[in-house]
Amino acid sequence: SSTIGFIGLGNMGGPMAANLVKAHHKVTGFDVAPAAREAAKEAGVVIAASAAETVAEADVIVTMLPNGRLVLGVWNEIAAHVKPEALIIDSSTIDVDSARNAHGLFAASGHLTLDAPVSGGTVGAQAATLTFMAGGSKPAFARAEPILLAMGKRAVHCGEAGAGQAAKICNNMILGISMIGVAEAFVLGEKLGLTHEALFNVASTSSGQCWALTTNCPVPGPVPTSPANRDYRPGFAAALMLKDMKLSQDAALSSGAATPLGAHATQLFDLFDKLGHGNEDFSAIIRFLRGGTGGGN
Ligand code: NAD
Repeated sequence: SSTIGFIGLGNMGGPMAANLVKAHHKVTGFDVAPAAREAAKEAGVVIAASAAETVAEADVIVTMLPNGRLVLGVWNEIAAHVKPEALIIDSSTIDVDSARNAHGLFAASGHLTLDAPVSGGTVGAQAATLTFMAGGSKPAFARAEPILLAMGKRAVHCGEAGAGQAAKICNNMILGISMIGVAEAFVLGEKLGLTHEALFNVASTSSGQCWALTTNCPVPGPVPTSPANRDYRPGFAAALMLKDMKLSQDAALSSGAATPLGAHATQLFDLFDKLGHGNEDFSAIIRFLRGGTGGGN
């Protein structure tokens, strides 16, 4: 078992740290929010007084924070306090440039570092069924893998520094675009007099098949577990989808990639969020499309 320092004990980090405790690791944790510290303590995490104190004894450090600015801040704060042989992992979803800069903070000291964002949501964090997509050196990935697999069921090494974030952002851009595609198809089907069941039965067994259709199906009925059946309670909140879509557009801009559908999908989720729907599942965008706003006539 390892001694692990875990910083950021929120909706994702809390249950992830709890799963490390269950896997018999010695876990010390820190969060700026008292409620997050309290919940983690109940799950068996030893609470430290600061990020620096969290990492002092740790062989492996995991950060799970809201954005790249905070990750860079925390990684800067702990740099002088980590043990010489420590491995540092960031599992937050952040922009590729910040991820690469975070790796760079430990380049001179020679510490192993990894960007390892996740998919699977809070349900996956609780059930330890997350998928990790990792960027960093082979030795960093090899050392991280058993730790990651205590919090998830799959870990994919995507390439060098930043490659994990790049994979995460590209994947979620597919999801954002395809959800709007699926929602538009149901809106058109409704106008043409098709039942939701008929369209679902055809598309789910034809070339329209995709995650947005079969997991977060935007209409109630065909997929009993989809958020549409519970008034669009997430699931995957539209505000988080928007965050990831914006990361894809930042990356498209800085790398010079053309992503016209990504850009349009980002605008639509942005409008949807600004209308106050950020806390609904991202599949609720179908209600906005039915209204005709932003989607043309
Ligand atoms: P969250 O807001 O619940 O948790 C973040 C935690 O970080 C909070 O408890 C906050 O108090 C803490 N924090 C902020 N600044 C800090 C600091 N300087 N030091 C210590 N703690 C600090 O968010 P979450 O849902 O757990 O998401 C975390 C990350 O995981 C995000 O980057 C998110 O995009 C990503 N993610 C979330 C989901 C999801 O479904 N929630 C899925 C995949 C990826």
